[in-house]
Amino acid sequence: MKTCVLAAAAALAACAAVAAEAPADGIDPCVDFYAYVNRAWLDQTELPPDRARIGSFDSLRVANAQLLERALGEAAARPDAEPTPGRRLVATDFAAGSDEKAIEARGLAALKPLLDRIDALGSADELPPLLAALARAQVAAPLAVFVSPDAKDKRRYALYLRQSGLGLPDRDDYVDDNEHARRIRDAYRVYAQRLLALAGAPADETTVDTLFGFEKKLAAASLARAQQRDPVAVYNPHDVHTLGAFAAGFDWAAWLRAYAGRDDLRLIVGETGFVRAFAKLTAEPPAVWRSYLRVRLLDAYARRLPKPFDAAAFAYHDAAIRGLRQPLPRAERIVQAIGATAVAEGLGEIYVARAFSPKAQQRASQLVADVTAAMRQHIEQLDWMGAPTKQRALAKLAAIAPKIGAPATWRRYDGLVFRRDDFAGNALRAAEWQTADRLAELDKPVDRTRWNTSPYIVNAYAGTLNDIVFPAGILQPPFFDADADDATNYGAIGTVIGHEITHHFDDRGRQFDADGNLADWWTEPDAAAYKARVDRVVALYEGYEPVPGQRINGRLTLGENVSDLSGVQIAYDALQAAIGRDPAAGATINGRTAAQRFFVAYATLWRGKQRVEALVNQLRTDPHSPAPYRVLAPLSNNAAFAAAFSCKPGSPMAAAQPVTVW
Ligand SMILES: [Zn+2]
Repeated sequence: MKTCVLAAAAALAACAAVAAEAPADGIDPCVDFYAYVNRAWLDQTELPPDRARIGSFDSLRVANAQLLERALGEAAARPDAEPTPGRRLVATDFAAGSDEKAIEARGLAALKPLLDRIDALGSADELPPLLAALARAQVAAPLAVFVSPDAKDKRRYALYLRQSGLGLPDRDDYVDDNEHARRIRDAYRVYAQRLLALAGAPADETTVDTLFGFEKKLAAASLARAQQRDPVAVYNPHDVHTLGAFAAGFDWAAWLRAYAGRDDLRLIVGETGFVRAFAKLTAEPPAVWRSYLRVRLLDAYARRLPKPFDAAAFAYHDAAIRGLRQPLPRAERIVQAIGATAVAEGLGEIYVARAFSPKAQQRASQLVADVTAAMRQHIEQLDWMGAPTKQRALAKLAAIAPKIGAPATWRRYDGLVFRRDDFAGNALRAAEWQTADRLAELDKPVDRTRWNTSPYIVNAYAGTLNDIVFPAGILQPPFFDADADDATNYGAIGTVIGHEITHHFDDRGRQFDADGNLADWWTEPDAAAYKARVDRVVALYEGYEPVPGQRINGRLTLGENVSDLSGVQIAYDALQAAIGRDPAAGATINGRTAAQRFFVAYATLWRGKQRVEALVNQLRTDPHSPAPYRVLAPLSNNAAFAAAFSCKPGSPMAAAQPVTVW
């Protein structure tokens, strides 16, 4: 039995691989492998009232948060003694979040300048500078505005405008006639009314009706989530003049000057219908805009405001949408709040100093190299792809840049000031600082070494620069254990690596080239063959109905599903390469072959319990399929799995005609 390195509260998660070695009796692995591996854990585990979900990911998240809470609890006593700007900022912010008396005493003071400007809005002409000020505070009202590498030229940055600004989780929630949608609509109206009343603004029924009607118009103009995944459809370059002609009714030049201090920027519009509708909606009465902007601003900062605001945000976002019965412990919520700001990297600094070793970095790099090599072999052996496309696919694969553990240097946050008695003000200053910082980069070349996630995060990413990112936070048990056997590591973190590599070749990722630029490198027949294959993936997942009446959205989840299907396959082949190097890695342990341990580790990764509210919301809004299907679909279409557990073709876990893409 291996040693668990995490704190006692997280021991269950840390020892996941161990617990999984005793699957429940009486379940046939060829009928339901998810249950075969996880039934015992599911039976023994209760979902705590303050969680929407628990499982391998969530338990590690809790463990990482607890590590940070302890470190920050110590650092908050003397933030100035911390060695770097990032660590001083997060320590100060943790102190501010812990000082609930100061939060109550400050009230809405931090937001007052913006609230006053909203109160003073008297005509549509005054909207551009006001919306620019809110955008600088990173309040999407209703456009999300940000600087990012130009999708077609990743050497330079551009300013993006994307649809956002809805209070409900999805555009369809405004109109759908089902119990879930009705329930969260009611909860949202209560929430909006509460925020307005708490801020001393008009909050009568009519005001809320009008606000809701306004958001409904924004929702009607919004592109469906599955369509937002089309990178060509959401790439619409403009300058301020063409934008003015295209989306008339709003003074874009005035807005851009107020937002960026200049109006000569290249703009990339995502959802064109939404942006046009927004420009028209600026003609709505100022009173409607005032209510709408108040709610957007208060919602964005509610978690850092006095208790009644925080409680209202809990009742809506956590209880109504995700099914929580009670709030998370205060300290964990403070860490989450810090993690949502521009100084999140400071949490990563603390995390890496305490929980990441050069040995882990080295072993993880070997895993990435092995899984990449397996993907290379898969591409070379594809029978449906011609030589020219293969060559470009291989060049793209070779160009993928792995980012493992943590960035080489930490941000310095020059000019950003946090106060230990101003929790809301800290977040506002961080947002405005980040906006200015990113705008200052617009004329500089793209920095390809930058991390857009913090190293303490339990997740992995395929970035927009043809990179893959594995933060130190996920390079921990049960995902990765420098002392565990190869089959377990390749079945866990190896499949995560395979998943991220495949993202650059999923239905969306395949449209970007070796430099990460949106550019078509496919021959027509190869593109057609690819589409035919992924259509089968869509059909496979749309066959699943996790909640009665709610099927998986096959198009919304397609990229994740393709990445799951192929990720497991290439990680398995990478394991074979590792066994080739070190035959001992192929030994049978506790009666399980290496292949069996690989698949057990994979299924253990995805075990979880989730509240039905959170599950329904996930099915409507999340590009990831629910956890059990991330085991059932990929493994029932995997020949190596069928062989490892001797599943007969046609049994539930062994599709007669397996769906494969890569
Ligand atoms: Zn993914």
